[in-house]
Amino acid sequence: MTLEIEQFMCHSDNFGILARDSETGVTALIDAPQERPILEAIERTGWTPSLLLITHHHADHVEANLALKERFGLTIVGPAKEADKIPGIDRQVNEGDIVRVGNQEARVIETPGHTAGHVSYFFPKAGVAFTADTLFALGCGRLFECKPPVMYESLKKLTELPLETVIYCGHEYTESNARFALSVDPTNSALKERAKKIEALRREDRPTLPTTLREEMATNPFLRWHDPVIRRNLGMENAPDVEVFAEIRKRKDIF
Ligand code: FE
Ligand code: ZN
Repeated sequence: MTLEIEQFMCHSDNFGILARDSETGVTALIDAPQERPILEAIERTGWTPSLLLITHHHADHVEANLALKERFGLTIVGPAKEADKIPGIDRQVNEGDIVRVGNQEARVIETPGHTAGHVSYFFPKAGVAFTADTLFALGCGRLFECKPPVMYESLKKLTELPLETVIYCGHEYTESNARFALSVDPTNSALKERAKKIEALRREDRPTLPTTLREEMATNPFLRWHDPVIRRNLGMENAPDVEVFAEIRKRKDIF
């Protein structure tokens, strides 16, 4: 029993994702960044989505909602806390709610920070999480609607998932994230090695996602507020974790 996943590019750096329960064939689309590549992915796979799981209200995540709803009659699920900004929403979800995708279940994890209502979807049986613009490979989303402590708590929640969790994100930002990560954590050998792999993938125009929580814990500075070397580099040896996170986020904003 598995969750099959098709990841594809939309616009210049958004990911579109189809997730299909192999037992029942029930398929969910994660976010709706752009109609045409989504239709092409549906055509290519033969997986017709009956559900659309929205992570947050930004235009590059909900752009194709209404067109796809009209074409496939899909049920649009999204965060209750920003439901008024999500076109065509049918079901509003909150922390801990379960969304059934065939025989798979997605658990809703509220991860505010990038937007005030952002949610992530975690499929425990499959060991897969869709974190959109909260957690990126080697990065985290910009804080458009919340203060750093809110994002810190969201990321902390995600670090409590099993380390083997496979993580899909909203954007292909990894290469520039890697450059920033190296600026605050230049001696981390796992990070240096990863940065090389990322560069090679991008040179061939291949995606750097998905990632795993284990890999992010080892290399993503936005999850490494506890790391003594990063703290020393920032001159924040004894600061609270949340302040270390806020400083890293601030530096990334002006990097
Ligand atoms: Fe966004
Ligand atoms: Zn986005």
